[in-house]
Amino acid sequence: MNPANEVSGRDGVRNRLLLVEDEQRIADVLSRGLEGAGYAVDVADDAAKALAALHQADYDLVILDLMLPDADGLTVLEKLRNRKGGPPVLILSARAAVDDKVKGLELGADDYMTKPFAFVELLARVRVLLRRGLPLQDKLTVGDLVMDTIRRKVWRAGELIELAPKEFGILEFLMRNRGRPLSRTMIVEHVWEMDYDGLTNIVDVYIRHLRSKIDDKWKVKLIHTVRGIGYLIDSPADARAEKPADPSA
Ligand code: CA
Repeated sequence: MNPANEVSGRDGVRNRLLLVEDEQRIADVLSRGLEGAGYAVDVADDAAKALAALHQADYDLVILDLMLPDADGLTVLEKLRNRKGGPPVLILSARAAVDDKVKGLELGADDYMTKPFAFVELLARVRVLLRRGLPLQDKLTVGDLVMDTIRRKVWRAGELIELAPKEFGILEFLMRNRGRPLSRTMIVEHVWEMDYDGLTNIVDVYIRHLRSKIDDKWKVKLIHTVRGIGYLIDSPADARAEKPADPSA
């Protein structure tokens, strides 16, 4: 993993995030955490300030609380979506109601998290959303693992590997986010396209199948368990090859 790549956009500039959150304590914890992860973070504590900030600067991602003192966060989302090519929006809300989630996603939010949540889960989602604007590749490679997403075929060291459709879906999601930890919930939502709260163990079962097919008989393991989050795929050889020269060396 290359931390410098992790936080910079296509032009190599640090990704800029707008955090819209009126609860000081949460805003502090999140902005400190996100800045610690290398992002530039601006905080707006109400809807009016959020809209003003969005007029003044280009953001790569907006993290939006729904219950704001002056307006419903969904109105900010609506205004943002009326403009073309706005940044992805991750809704953060204490409302667990399915209605709010559906409404938020209908209005064009890209992801939705219910408070309380673990920071690592938020960070994983932020990283995936920031990658989303990049063009999709047909051919994905991690070490000697190669996937043709059009013909839906996978090879390890030139050997064709048979995968069930869900296994393929999970592997593709992992490979498209190479080096980035994905939580079990994210994998479930992505591959099953619905909430499977409490059924995230199913991901462990599928990962076990995937490992038996693409990792077990090879010395170099590509799928890694990330404690407290979920899984990521990466190859140590690639990480070494892509690492830029260390300026301090
Ligand atoms: Ca709030």
